[in-house]
Amino acid sequence: MEIDRFQPLRSRTGALFLLGILAALPVGVEGLPQATGGTPQATACPDAQRLVRGSEGVAADIRYLADDALEGREAGTRGARCAADYLAEAFAEAGLEPAAPGGSYFQTFPIRAGSTLGTGNLLRVGATTYEAESDWIPFGFAAPGETTAPMIYGGHGISRPGDANDTYPHLDLEGKIVVLEDGDPRTHSGQSLYANPHFKATVAAGRGAAGVLVLLPEGANLPDLTFETRASLGVPVAAVRGAAADALRSAARQGESATIRFDAAPREVQARNVAALLPGSDPELRDEVVILGAHYDHLGLGGQGSMSPDETGTVHNGADDNASGTAALLEVARSLASAPMRPARSVLFLAFTGEEKGLWGSAYYVREPLVPIDLTVAMLNMDMVGRLEEGGLMVFGVGTAEEWLDVLETANHASGAPLNIATSPDGFGPSDHSSFYGEGIPVLHFFTNTHEDYHRPSDDWQKIDEAGVERVAALVREVALELAGGSGAHDVTLTAVSGAGNPHGGPLPEGDRDSRVSSGYGPYLGTIPDMTPSDFGVRLTGVREGSPAQDAGLRKGDVIVLFAGKEITDLYAYTYALRDQKPGDEVEIEVERDGERVTLKAVLGERR
Ligand SMILES: [Zn+2]
Repeated sequence: MEIDRFQPLRSRTGALFLLGILAALPVGVEGLPQATGGTPQATACPDAQRLVRGSEGVAADIRYLADDALEGREAGTRGARCAADYLAEAFAEAGLEPAAPGGSYFQTFPIRAGSTLGTGNLLRVGATTYEAESDWIPFGFAAPGETTAPMIYGGHGISRPGDANDTYPHLDLEGKIVVLEDGDPRTHSGQSLYANPHFKATVAAGRGAAGVLVLLPEGANLPDLTFETRASLGVPVAAVRGAAADALRSAARQGESATIRFDAAPREVQARNVAALLPGSDPELRDEVVILGAHYDHLGLGGQGSMSPDETGTVHNGADDNASGTAALLEVARSLASAPMRPARSVLFLAFTGEEKGLWGSAYYVREPLVPIDLTVAMLNMDMVGRLEEGGLMVFGVGTAEEWLDVLETANHASGAPLNIATSPDGFGPSDHSSFYGEGIPVLHFFTNTHEDYHRPSDDWQKIDEAGVERVAALVREVALELAGGSGAHDVTLTAVSGAGNPHGGPLPEGDRDSRVSSGYGPYLGTIPDMTPSDFGVRLTGVREGSPAQDAGLRKGDVIVLFAGKEITDLYAYTYALRDQKPGDEVEIEVERDGERVTLKAVLGERR
């Protein structure tokens, strides 16, 4: 689940854009860095028997996937590779067929995994040439190419609204190479969203800068390009350290010219969706397929997407997000495969990678479907189903087919222990079902709501309601059986409904989507919206540490009712209102808190 990118279709188009530019590049293997001039070294995966501690079924799956040894299962890493291997083995043990090309369980596709430097890098001021990888290095999101332009010194490169001594907003950056100090002097640690060189470079590029040089503090290391996955900003951006930083600071103050030439290329690895098929029993209907899906990737060691930026480097286990849904997927697979009667239609089980990066795995799947889209009856997505406990289950997407509410009710009774279900019509939401609804396929998304451990290292297996995961799996199994047919009285045929839950009438206009791609990154506030359908506003289940939301005083329990003068009726209105702003904009946010209206001011950061 990646709530921060609650932006229908944006992730898909982002992913397509990325795949497009990567199509021609050399390819490594997921989690196996290409050794120079040689074949990748295989690194063994953790021993599942040891990690699952004698548990079985759902409990075992969650303990394995959410163990520290899986390193947070970030797409493109060793942890994700081991998770995918485990899933393929589990599908095989359950008796399901490999569903990917070549008789494999793996549907592979290239993803961005950092950048590699070429040999043509140059930074020269006057007669002095500075040495790449020693004095300086381009950031992984820097544009390649060459520029010669006068430098201008911009201090820390952070605007401070309301501060009369703030000169940065008044500097003319047009056509200049802007030289900036690293960090944010307004915070104790020097770190904040505005401290990020990517944020500073985005703002400077928006003001017409020809390039950005960031001067690192004394003793700092040059950034590592290995894990950079952000798309190129369109301007050259580099980090400079040590004596070179001091020299450039004085040269920029004198307005001297610099020549910069960046030679860096994106590096890519193969990521893997895991696909397994339970063939249908009916000779005609078996060509049609019901898809069950769950993403198995998570945030790795934090950083981008984490709600705890201070804990970058700590394993984010993602037990709820989404070892829980993955375990439920395996549970349904085992249950259907071992039943005496096979359903009439085929059932395709898909464990997606790259969801946390922006629905990459499901976006790839719908471009390269293993069964034709028009033979796909429905897609059932399980993302974050591990916190059922006393609470109810939420099911999104009931507006995407006319029959969904009836199907759900029948399935809920058939599951043996009916759940307390809240529904929402939305077919677009912050998880993989969006990719399928974008293709007109009826979808449901099963979800046990957000919580304080969402996208933090504390999302651990000990907090999972394992019996609850089994109950969700039982419900999804019954829904799948109704759709796949052959079970008797309750077989249904779905009637797709387009534009469900989106008051703006379906997918966003092309122009809007294109502008999202070309501008790269949108504004960022850092809220965790409650996904429960509500009568008004958007309730928050939390805010991200160190985020603009936290700086503004927003907190858990607030209900946002007005944002930058726009009335916030639901998550869509909130998403669109946020999207209308730019990073760096100051906005007024009105919230309802303990029955009173409170107005707060936030300076928006940048979505990464
Ligand atoms: Zn997530």
